[in-house]
Amino acid sequence: MSSTELDRQKLLLGEAFENVRKKHVCVVGTGAIGSNIAINLARNGFSKITLVDLDKVETPNIGTQEFFQDQKGLQKTKALSLTLKRINENIIVRTVDSDFRNAEKTISSCDVVMDGLDSMSLRFELNLLTVKYGKDYILSACAGFSGMSAYFPAGGPCLECVFPGRKVRESSCAPGARQIGVLPETAKVAASISTVLLLTNQQSVLVGYGLNTSSMEKVRIKKRVDCPVCR
Ligand SMILES: [Zn+2]
Repeated sequence: MSSTELDRQKLLLGEAFENVRKKHVCVVGTGAIGSNIAINLARNGFSKITLVDLDKVETPNIGTQEFFQDQKGLQKTKALSLTLKRINENIIVRTVDSDFRNAEKTISSCDVVMDGLDSMSLRFELNLLTVKYGKDYILSACAGFSGMSAYFPAGGPCLECVFPGRKVRESSCAPGARQIGVLPETAKVAASISTVLLLTNQQSVLVGYGLNTSSMEKVRIKKRVDCPVCR
């Protein structure tokens, strides 16, 4: 893979870019959001990625996920790892064909967790693990016409600081859920913004967007002293 584009980014972001690119990123869920995120990571020079997903590639996945007709029946992690290798032949990709709740050891061994899950209840469970093991966590969620991404640094704030009592509308891009086709692409962009926050060591921010309102806005996130998870 040509390093020209990466060199340009390094000029912009400095040494932090090189340091963060060496981090081991775990992408949990490799569907509509996760497959887009993993490809974005590979194209931006991240060199060690672990993919966690239980599912196989099926026909309904092809429309919104980074899989192809000839990959039907393959484990999603395997299919996606082949695509990542086509982008960067030197990338190290580990695959874990499991529900992330049975892959705690994997999550504990990485540096950054990126979420490609399809339900908020699962994201709260992943949040517990990232806080437990002190991992940076980048959340991505979308449904219908809108979505959000957030960067939760190790040590907090965490997802439960933002939604105390887990009071948040369900957000799913699972097969069968209603969503506009380009939404996962938008989710990838929002997740990229959160990754830049990580790269540049900025404070935690939630980015919300709406394709039907042509809007994107950010909200600063603060740690809650009474958060039951990260206090
Ligand atoms: Zn918290």
